[in-house]
Amino acid sequence: CGIVGYIGSKKAHEILVEGLEKLEYRGYDSAGIAIFDKGQLKVRKYKGRLSVLREKLSKEEFNATVGIGHTRWATHGEPSDKNAHPHTNRTGDIAVVHNGIIENFIELKEELQDKGYKFVSETDTEVISHLIDYYFDGDLLEAVKKAVSKLEGAFALGVICKDNPDKLIAVRKDSPLIIGIGEGENFIASDIPAILKYTRNVYILEDGEMAVVEKDNIKVMQLNGKPVEKEVFTVNWDV
Ligand code: GLU
Repeated sequence: CGIVGYIGSKKAHEILVEGLEKLEYRGYDSAGIAIFDKGQLKVRKYKGRLSVLREKLSKEEFNATVGIGHTRWATHGEPSDKNAHPHTNRTGDIAVVHNGIIENFIELKEELQDKGYKFVSETDTEVISHLIDYYFDGDLLEAVKKAVSKLEGAFALGVICKDNPDKLIAVRKDSPLIIGIGEGENFIASDIPAILKYTRNVYILEDGEMAVVEKDNIKVMQLNGKPVEKEVFTVNWDV
């Protein structure tokens, strides 16, 4: 339901939770984050309010400066810790947050199970992290492009991978997503209020667009890889 992503030099987990709080008005049943911390991809996700996640996070020390976060409004699979996002691949190196519905997830799930993939949740979303794993051979962008070409339905995605720790991938098809443009830091979010504390300059992704977001660089392209020239939209209202 809500997506926030951060790449920069501040503490990612704090920015993610704060951003998700700004999206609380949309409603949700669980919340989670994935961050690169001390060379590891760490996922923390819980059923319930963001205060539950916040409380659990406060018991640990994190120095991560890259991550993605999500508040879930369950469509497939009951609200639970296991079904909360982010979802990961089998090695726990790739993490995905997703808003929307993957219409063909049952077929994709069967194909992936035939290839030996084990599912740990009941969500439609989990097919995405395994599909990216299936196509991954070192280049996250290429793997995401291939995986997305198999998906039917509505989706906004945020993806990170331990082997490409300098980028976030954002994808938009029939579910809103924006890129927040900072200085030495950039953001992704499903809605503008999540990032307004940090920047007023955004790219509004159109349907069928994706972006590679690095700390000092943002590349927007169509889902087939064709580059797109975006105009910066400056937000002139407050939350
Ligand atoms: N369909 C996904 C799920 O049930 C995402 C729901 C959402 O947009 O929060 O997990």
